[in-house]
Amino acid sequence: GSLIAYAEANAFNGSKGHIAHADAVASNDDRRIASSEQVPKKKKVVLLGTGWGGMSFLKSLNNTNFEVQVVSPRNFFVFTPLLPSVTCGKVEARSIVEPIRNIIRKKNVNISYSEAECVKIDPNNKKIYCRATIDSHSKGEEVFAVDYDYLIIAVGAQVNTFNTPGVMENCHFLKEIDDAQKIRKNVIDSFEKASLPNLSDEERKKILHFVVVGGGPTGVEFAAELHDFVNEDVVKLYPNVQDLVKITLLEATDHILNMFDKRITNFAEQKFGRDGIDVKLGSMVTGINENEISTKVRGNGEKTSTPYGMALWSTGIGPRPLIKEFMKQIGQGNRRALATDEWLRVEGFGNIYALGDCATVNQRKVMEDISEIFRKADKDNSGTLTVKEFQEIIDDICERYPQVELYLQNKQVRNMVDLLKEAKGDAAKESMELNIEEFKSALSEVDSQMKNLPATAQVANQQGAYLAKCFNRMEECEKNPEGPPRFRGTGRHRFHPFRYRHLGQFAPLGGEQTAAQLPGDWVSIGHSEQWLWYSVYASKQVSWRTRALVVSDWIRRFIFGRDTSGI
Ligand code: FAD
Repeated sequence: GSLIAYAEANAFNGSKGHIAHADAVASNDDRRIASSEQVPKKKKVVLLGTGWGGMSFLKSLNNTNFEVQVVSPRNFFVFTPLLPSVTCGKVEARSIVEPIRNIIRKKNVNISYSEAECVKIDPNNKKIYCRATIDSHSKGEEVFAVDYDYLIIAVGAQVNTFNTPGVMENCHFLKEIDDAQKIRKNVIDSFEKASLPNLSDEERKKILHFVVVGGGPTGVEFAAELHDFVNEDVVKLYPNVQDLVKITLLEATDHILNMFDKRITNFAEQKFGRDGIDVKLGSMVTGINENEISTKVRGNGEKTSTPYGMALWSTGIGPRPLIKEFMKQIGQGNRRALATDEWLRVEGFGNIYALGDCATVNQRKVMEDISEIFRKADKDNSGTLTVKEFQEIIDDICERYPQVELYLQNKQVRNMVDLLKEAKGDAAKESMELNIEEFKSALSEVDSQMKNLPATAQVANQQGAYLAKCFNRMEECEKNPEGPPRFRGTGRHRFHPFRYRHLGQFAPLGGEQTAAQLPGDWVSIGHSEQWLWYSVYASKQVSWRTRALVVSDWIRRFIFGRDTSGI
């Protein structure tokens, strides 16, 4: 009986080698049964998602002691930063996707893939329930269960419409490869439609009014791409309608590209002004139907309705239904993303990890712990510590909470941190007294601004690689559970916490100009940054295949212009 159970367990885990082994054992003697039972069962890791977080985990995992099952509704990875380039034909859709099986086949780890979406997580029984997504026939019918020892949730997020009426039905989104292809087709169709002979100029204008809702990096890049397309290709191909094109960018706050440095924001707004892109700041979309988009001006409440031809909704992200449901189930119902600790474990679960856009490291405890460290250090209750004591405490805090290093780059605490750095090794300066409260309140000010890591590919990519490293070292750490001396006796996890390294960000602004904001507030805007952008994105491709395709698309566009066939 135990033998059958053993074979079944392995069959469920999809390990053919083990089943064959168990069969052989069944027809032989007891001695061999004993030997088969000693074969340690591989721990099963189930990974949800083949986006940035999932792909990066798979690429970095090399521990052959795990059996990995990947579950994702799409069997490919998408290089999302180049999605806006697909919308107007600068880059082909196929050039920025990599089949997940190409990534898996290069690994010596036992990895299988199922094209399905996870519909429910049952943490108590260590099971997930999935539904095949391959064709409409099987959709909704076949729900199957998968067991796990470790679950890694990297399902990303979905678009957020803020329940604005009409958005789902009438707007385009730019999240997946299909979205980019649909937009591309729609853009070309708009020009063809507007070129038909039986239309009035008024109708043509409506068709060629492109509205972008949301002045974040995606909305801004799409507006810039569209403007380039009109300037570089439409003038040659659709000369009769080029003057009727209008691009409007609606942003609810006071500026576009809010997450960038002021200098970039100002430059982008001025450049768009010069390019004729109508940037409407403080403009909130209140509803949209198939003909008009309604807005309200923040402040004076003035309402307007404008006819439009095509609208792109790009205002941010929210949790997927699976994550919303799971958060409710585990008492995190009031959050916008799954809360994890600094080791990316979902709070309260040692074997469930979450990363990328669906998760956020919960920093609530960090400030409490920092306060406690300062309270203990201030033995005489004077409210002050010497510079030297401060230096030691900050080194200790950064070691425990690497994310604090990010805080320390912030303007509020910069003066104090600079002072500490300058004083290093200078006995006179090191004995100076500093006020604890002043530092703590500056730090908590920063804390409130930096609650979450940004939802970017950079974060998801680093988290995936970090988690794979933890899994690569899992046995070694299990043999030595005490871990490195600094965690001994603290009850903390045995791996170093996740440390995010911000490598900078780009905002392509069209006309072969890009704004680059690199670490240390280094800001640079212009044509040479566009070349930097090309080289960074070429180097970041996940395979030589996609790298070759993307570079050849860029070259093709330089020589022949964009492909404007509406397919
Ligand atoms: P995703 O990459 O979205 O992957 C999620 C995966 O989970 C997908 O494979 C999906 O099919 C799968 N999935 C969904 N539901 C389920 C389910 N129920 N069960 C199983 N699997 C599921 N970031 C940058 O750093 N730089 C940029 O320049 C940049 N540009 C961007 C441009 C655009 C147009 C967009 C949309 C995003 C951009 N981002 C950029 C953000 C970046 O793409 C995301 O932060 C990143 O993709 C998050 O990675 P992830 O692994 O969490 O999710």
